[in-house]
Amino acid sequence: MARGKVYLVGGGPGDPELMTLKAKRLLSEADVILFDRLLDPRMLEGARAELIDVGKNAGRHKLSQEGINQLLIEKAQEGNVVVRLKGGDPYLFGRGGEEALALLEKGISVEVVPGVTSAVAAPELAGIPVTHRGIASSLLIVTGHEEPGKDTPLDWKAIANLGGTLVILMGVSRLEKNIASLIAGGRTAKTPAALVEKGGWPEQRMIAGTLEDIAQKARSAGIESPAILVVGEVVELAEKLARDRIAILRPKAQQEESARLAESYGFQPIMAPAIALKEKPLPEDLLERLERAECVAFTSANGALMALQDKGIREALTRKRVIAIGPKTEQALSEYGLISQVPEEYSSEGLQKMLSGQACSILFLRSAQGSQYLSEGLRQAGLQVDDIPLYEVVFSGDQRLDDLIKRAKSVEIFAFTSSSTVRYLLERARAMGLEKELREALERSTVAVIGKPTAEELSRQGVKVDVMPEKFTFEAMLQALKARKN
Ligand code: SAH
Repeated sequence: MARGKVYLVGGGPGDPELMTLKAKRLLSEADVILFDRLLDPRMLEGARAELIDVGKNAGRHKLSQEGINQLLIEKAQEGNVVVRLKGGDPYLFGRGGEEALALLEKGISVEVVPGVTSAVAAPELAGIPVTHRGIASSLLIVTGHEEPGKDTPLDWKAIANLGGTLVILMGVSRLEKNIASLIAGGRTAKTPAALVEKGGWPEQRMIAGTLEDIAQKARSAGIESPAILVVGEVVELAEKLARDRIAILRPKAQQEESARLAESYGFQPIMAPAIALKEKPLPEDLLERLERAECVAFTSANGALMALQDKGIREALTRKRVIAIGPKTEQALSEYGLISQVPEEYSSEGLQKMLSGQACSILFLRSAQGSQYLSEGLRQAGLQVDDIPLYEVVFSGDQRLDDLIKRAKSVEIFAFTSSSTVRYLLERARAMGLEKELREALERSTVAVIGKPTAEELSRQGVKVDVMPEKFTFEAMLQALKARKN
């Protein structure tokens, strides 16, 4: 690559998947990356560059625009490939033009890489199309934060009378003032308006109302920058077009897959792992215990995949009757060429029904916190039951769970996939001093569970349950949620 070059790169509104391919490539090739706000760390995955945060961060003041230009010049003159990563699009209120001119003045080559602008994407992700046939055929984007003496002054009267959709960026601090100017300029107070906060971020929120009440609503909801004000009839389309946000609390390894699945059912996933799985050493007498059992049962795909790492277990299983509670577990086993039986109902009752009168001994390879209820039921039905813990379920300690707890109010659906997800979510909220807020959020939202033990844990904790699928799988839960909406 040519050395000593600066790329002004648009990073999109915040979701790493909304970056362009070119942005992704340049980030992985750059020697130096300058960015100016808290980024989703996934954006910088694979980057090997020197990372410079030119925004505010602990103990250091925000660099001035002059300082940023100077740093870009220095880094390029040292012969580096420099990426200046910007939110949204670099040339829309991004000061990208200024940076480009400053670099050209020093004879440094510069290239701009467009990005998905929040001006369109943030409303869009909240269910608002900025234009819509028959409703709005123009879009005006303005700054809500004019710098006196630096910006050409806005003609609020003309703006108020333009019709179409108006999008105001950088408008949180002067919200009341700008709205008053619009109304004074002649836009009716009943015009629909919405604020979209952190569009495309996990904590995205939208507050909708009219010009008359939106400022007050936004203040009481504590809306903060970055947020976008959208004014116009298009706002009403969000009632139909907005996706419900679903909090997914499963362990990290299942987040990505679950999120994609949730998306495919029309939900907006919030990845917030509450639990993590910690592998346990296998017992010394493992093989003897395997030999003693007629059937070997797995209760989760995670457990099956962990067990199958062990050659001894793999070999022994080819001689056993293998049982999988649920299709995902069955699939994990089949990836290793093992055929397993699945009970009709993915629960302890289902298993009991399947085994009654057919087998006399069973070994569970599963979580250390596996339900006692399951083994007890089978013992009472006359079976010999053995249990080998493969992993422990522990608290995830994931930052994304804390973020979810802080923003619980903005979540429409909570998806609980095990009783441990219930316990750790509530425990964490308690530790953060936000249990009351979380419980209120749960009360107002739709609470979905994958199966009975999870539902029971919620009722023990005093939380209502709205949705439980007939088949106890994550996908069936999504289907049930979707059916409820239609
Ligand atoms: N170049 C950027 C805009 C920079 S100005 C772009 O094209 O998106 C900064 C303003 O953009 C913020 O004050 C806010 O109004 C808006 N903004 C940026 N990211 C946003 C997001 N994810 N959600 C809502 N508004 C956002």
